[in-house]
Amino acid sequence: MRVAIVGAGRMGRLVAGEVLSAGDLELVGIHGRVHSDAIGIDVGVLAGLPPCGISVSALPARLDADVVVDVSAPEGLRATLRSLDGAALVTGTTGIPDALQRDLESYASRAPVVQAANFSTGVNLLLDLVARAARALPDYDIEIVEAHHRHKRDAPSGTALALGRAAAAGRGALLADLAVHGRVGDTGERPVGPIGFHALRLGDVVGDHAVWLGGPGERLCLGHVATSRRTFAQGAVRATRWIVGRPPGVHGMADVLGL
Ligand code: NAD
Repeated sequence: MRVAIVGAGRMGRLVAGEVLSAGDLELVGIHGRVHSDAIGIDVGVLAGLPPCGISVSALPARLDADVVVDVSAPEGLRATLRSLDGAALVTGTTGIPDALQRDLESYASRAPVVQAANFSTGVNLLLDLVARAARALPDYDIEIVEAHHRHKRDAPSGTALALGRAAAAGRGALLADLAVHGRVGDTGERPVGPIGFHALRLGDVVGDHAVWLGGPGERLCLGHVATSRRTFAQGAVRATRWIVGRPPGVHGMADVLGL
């Protein structure tokens, strides 16, 4: 299976390392931002492996691969969608504006797409647990706290928003109607219903998420701690193997993992 990667940053290099180490996958290209420092560097070396003869290059006009894995940035995903020519797409890029999401869904009407804010097994199980807890405890206040490294560009994290969507769905509601982002000043008493989001940015945190549900005399915390980005890269490769031969549409990691 011929795999191309868009994004040669923290995630792209790790996904490349997993693809290069897999016997059944062939890395055919890895693409980064035009003026990025990584352009021209052998991706084996970037991934901590022996040189493999494939250097990071700018995105071509046409991506020639069976599966394209996008772990870049919203502008990278936008460029990827322009270059795709029927290949299956696995994307983990977060912070996507609504118009770009619509473009992604339009491509998914012609080709299979896996979209996941988080490729880890644990977080995808957590999404289900959160929906169940929110449904079982309809009057409990929900607050979602996430922490990430100082380089992260979007907030709250795509995973925190996915957890919020799961909690809202558990209550038969849309997250857009319930989300409250941070609090400051004279906020008044907390009404019943809103889902609060709080984003910490510090040091080299890989990704922590905690969903608090508070009621009379108790609070419950459902959480996940990622200790290595490899768990995301391995999930991306799992989605890459799964997507081949699937029907067009936007699939999620729950489908990939059979949850
Ligand atoms: P990073 O900043 O280290 O790397 C981003 C890469 O994208 C860089 O190589 C950059 O050159 C490239 N890029 C940006 N714009 C581009 C363009 N127009 N064309 C080509 N390449 C372009 O970021 P990262 O930590 O690797 O994360 C990348 C994305 O993946 C982020 O959106 C992040 O939130 C997301 N992420 C997802 C998961 C998951 O499990 N789904 C896990 C971690 C990170």
